[in-house]
Amino acid sequence: MSTKFRAEFPLPDVDWEPTRAFWAGAARSELVLPRCDACGRYVWYPDGACHRCGADRHTWTAVSGRGRLFSWAVVRRAFIPQFADQVPYVTGLVTIDEDPAVRLATRLVDCDDGALRVDIPVRVSFRPLRVAGVDRAIVAPFFTPAGPEKG
Ligand SMILES: [Zn+2]
Repeated sequence: MSTKFRAEFPLPDVDWEPTRAFWAGAARSELVLPRCDACGRYVWYPDGACHRCGADRHTWTAVSGRGRLFSWAVVRRAFIPQFADQVPYVTGLVTIDEDPAVRLATRLVDCDDGALRVDIPVRVSFRPLRVAGVDRAIVAPFFTPAGPEKG
């Protein structure tokens, strides 16, 4: 992995090969994850061989975008200056319904952070991600509560 500074930091590098398909899917409003061709498990984070069976071939596969809130934190102070104009925001880990072992690092939107609870249903919501000092935005999968308390 390159640690070279990119002009668009801290926007994700959508051209980085291991996650390029993920960002391309997001641009189409599709949540796609690599699924092992041998055993069918989702392989996340996509850093090489299947964690379950060791096979190294996978197919990027669309998932429903429905999941559960595993954990979260309200960010009130920006550790990276480019996010200073976005605090407070809620960052979290979301499991996908297709495989609760898969936990995506994401941001929770359209939510009352005081009403968040472990294991509430959430659904994906594709939004532009912008950071201060970078002209372009990229489409990223955010999540929003999907239970009776919200849509
Ligand atoms: Zn496998």
